[in-house]
Amino acid sequence: MARYTGAVCRLCRREGMKLYLKGDRCYTPKCGIDRRNYAPGGKGQSRKKVTEYGLQLREKQRARRSYGILERQFRRYFDAAERQKGITGENLLRLLERRLDNVAYRVGFGDSRAEARQLARHGHLTVNGRRVSIPSYLVKIGDIIEIAPGSKEQARFADLAETAAHKTLPPWLEVDLEKMRVRVLGFPSREDIDTPVKEHLIVELYSR
Ligand code: SF4
Repeated sequence: MARYTGAVCRLCRREGMKLYLKGDRCYTPKCGIDRRNYAPGGKGQSRKKVTEYGLQLREKQRARRSYGILERQFRRYFDAAERQKGITGENLLRLLERRLDNVAYRVGFGDSRAEARQLARHGHLTVNGRRVSIPSYLVKIGDIIEIAPGSKEQARFADLAETAAHKTLPPWLEVDLEKMRVRVLGFPSREDIDTPVKEHLIVELYSR
């Protein structure tokens, strides 16, 4: 699966906000946004008039980069969201939130979505007792997500409670950090999703 392999702090600087792509580092003074809060590149500090299209594009890029998804796959999520009943923008965010790597990140199994994705790829996560190594797996209501039995002893999971302290645990997930287990109680409503994205701009962009 293709993925972005460049410098991730540049992505935050391009979007002009913290996207929290690097785990612990994002909470330290080393954060790229705290040190250089302007767009990367030679013209990063110049002022430009932003068009309506530019605003819509930035919003889509922000969402895509927050969840670590490439363009084509993001477009597929949008198409699926459009086919569902309800508000397309909210459907889109709900689909993104249901990704296995996002769930693992939200509950603190991984410091960042990139780390959570790696946990899935390396077989450290199970869903309903079976290993699932596909980060884009969409969790369903009633699913039980756990750290795989052979992985629970690893040092990286020793301070799960501390990692989770950075986070507001989502109300749609029941989390037992002692047992390293998560149960999906329902799907998130828009209020449960704190990703700073104006989804209606993404819908406008793709509706052009
Ligand atoms: Fe973004 Fe984190 Fe880098 Fe800060 S440290 S710029 S929040 S990825």
